[in-house]
Amino acid sequence: MDSKQAKKPFKLDAETESAVEALLAQMTLQEKIGQLTQLGTFDEESDGELIEEGMVGSILGVRGADTVNELQRIAVEESRLGIPLLFADDVIHGYRSTFPIPLAESSSWNLELLEETAAIAAREASSDGINWILAPMVDIARDARWGRIAEGAGEDTFLGSAVAAARVRGIQRNDWTDRPHIMACPKHFAAYGLAEGGRDYNTVDVSETRMRETYFPPFQAALDAGAGTIMAAFNEINGVPASGNGWLLKDVLQGEWGFNGVVVSDWESVDELVQHGFAADREQAGKLAANAGMHMDMHSLIFHEHLANLIDKGDVKLEVIDDAVRRILRVKHALGLFKHPYVDNKLAGEFMLHEEHVASAREMARQSIVLLKNENGTLPLRQGLKKLAVIGPLADNGEAQLGCWRGQGRPEDTVSVLAGIQSLAHERQAEVVYAPGSGVHDGTAEALEKAVEAAKASEVAVLVLGETADMSGENNSRVSLELPAAQQRLLEAIHATGVPVVLAVVNGRPLTLEWADAHIPAIVNGWQLGIQAGPAIADILFGEASPSGKLTVTFPRHTGQVPIYYNAKKTGRPHMRRYADSDIAPLYPFGHGLTYTSFGYDELQIEQAEIKFGQSVSVSAKVTNTGDRDGVEIVQLYICDEAASVTRPVKELKGFSRISLKAGESATVSFTLSEEQLGFINQAQQFVVEPGKFKVWIGPSSAEGLEGSFEIIA
Ligand code: BGC
Repeated sequence: MDSKQAKKPFKLDAETESAVEALLAQMTLQEKIGQLTQLGTFDEESDGELIEEGMVGSILGVRGADTVNELQRIAVEESRLGIPLLFADDVIHGYRSTFPIPLAESSSWNLELLEETAAIAAREASSDGINWILAPMVDIARDARWGRIAEGAGEDTFLGSAVAAARVRGIQRNDWTDRPHIMACPKHFAAYGLAEGGRDYNTVDVSETRMRETYFPPFQAALDAGAGTIMAAFNEINGVPASGNGWLLKDVLQGEWGFNGVVVSDWESVDELVQHGFAADREQAGKLAANAGMHMDMHSLIFHEHLANLIDKGDVKLEVIDDAVRRILRVKHALGLFKHPYVDNKLAGEFMLHEEHVASAREMARQSIVLLKNENGTLPLRQGLKKLAVIGPLADNGEAQLGCWRGQGRPEDTVSVLAGIQSLAHERQAEVVYAPGSGVHDGTAEALEKAVEAAKASEVAVLVLGETADMSGENNSRVSLELPAAQQRLLEAIHATGVPVVLAVVNGRPLTLEWADAHIPAIVNGWQLGIQAGPAIADILFGEASPSGKLTVTFPRHTGQVPIYYNAKKTGRPHMRRYADSDIAPLYPFGHGLTYTSFGYDELQIEQAEIKFGQSVSVSAKVTNTGDRDGVEIVQLYICDEAASVTRPVKELKGFSRISLKAGESATVSFTLSEEQLGFINQAQQFVVEPGKFKVWIGPSSAEGLEGSFEIIA
């Protein structure tokens, strides 16, 4: 069976296709090359002229309805053919209303809410003139040293694909008016998250099987959801940089998958073919990229400078250029830009930081938080609490909460953790004492002493520690996943006071919290939560909301464990798995997350002990809220194919369901496993389902669950 290789054309009607052909027929070579050119920076004087001459297809990073409309006017009214421009921007987790970083949002496992926040981001961006969003980032990432782990949906392909599709649906929902429209651009194709050593832009050497099974599906899901563009990655794959990789861009994407939209390079990644040592000079880089199926050159101006010459020499065929132009015109048509090129300049005032957007930011922030540990009923903070200390360099730091790629998010729109706690404490007539205790990276004895005094004078100390925005994201890899030493010292000093400590982590990646896990009774993984970070954290600490997030990345004990992920392959010596100097298991597994109630799992039922090819298996379990508070549980379904012609992972997520249960309430949660979930990529690079036994688990995380089995018979 072949379902993974289904065609992925982005849909246009016959009328549009013929409008595209008619326009193409009128274009000069220079105008065609113009469409293939994206300016990454913009100089009004010189570049205005380029637009007028039809030499620009797209501009990146220009914002504001009036500015955009003026440039669009030049393109539409002053260039010979009046082809509208695409205005691109990186809108990664919100526009002005900044949401939690994408890795945090994925911890909600809430596809509807993920779609909603993407739609809000698109609405705000659109009102500012943007019609092309360079997101979602759908790279699977299993190395927490890599700073860009913050931008994706974590380590798992099944979840990552569902999140990718939800984000594309949200970005392209276009629900505020019938125009203008927005196009999504999943990135970075492909395997960028596999950079060796977690060093950004680094070498990727990976089997085709793994590419197809682990790294491609989120892109396929994003294209299936209707994305008409895709961005090629910076990295090389098995010796060929993605931006000049004909196998990747042409054979697989445009051939096998039938993708008829636009491939855009990453920032100067066409030029970087030279730095990679794959092209001798810029001209050759242009030739290699164009012939590999690259349609638009972001910022390097290589297509602009060299394509005409390359055509003259016969190094690039005119059909190649025509094909690229056709695709770009298709996207412009799909966006309705030929009919409605301009943006209503009143919308931004209406949309930016709209109260509903801010409310969604708070809800998403609450649902992104993962309660890692909670002993002795430390959380929620008890009613009647009179005095608490808020300590740590990230407590009063709204900027850190904006995370990487903050877009148009501003610190002054952001409510810090301290402010969020102060406001809820005030309602409860509890006093808050605040002491930073240290800087992010350095501390002084005096600051530490003040924090210790503040803690001693309080009933509980909330420590807000972790990473600033510039410690993750692009080109912000780290060699250590530990809390910076000054902050670790602060944590230990406050713990030594004997006052109960709650650790609220602000992070753009998994951190190693082994010491904290051994000593601190309550740990809240807060990520970088956007403009409503403070209220959301306060809601959770005070029990106004119950935590419900679950990890979408494994949290290691030590940096030396990375890459680490739950669905590792089996080995021949499972009984000998060890490190000589550490426990081999992660500190917190994929899928882990606690709440203020407890859930029991029983009555695992597998409807069919045996199935034939083409049939599905129904699996269910009863989940009961066994505590005394209402709560949300993310129920997870895993399988393991016990023996196959290619070795299979120890466990693979194949379903999840986010359910709300009142205290004492039970629900039966059912899943259907179809062929799509039971197959894999075989040695011939085909998606196959093979006969044999499967294990299946339903449970609260990748490390726990009720176990059963079934068999596919030939
Ligand atoms: C990043 C892309 C981004 C582009 C444009 C690059 O450095 O890798 O994700 O879309 O810049 O800002």
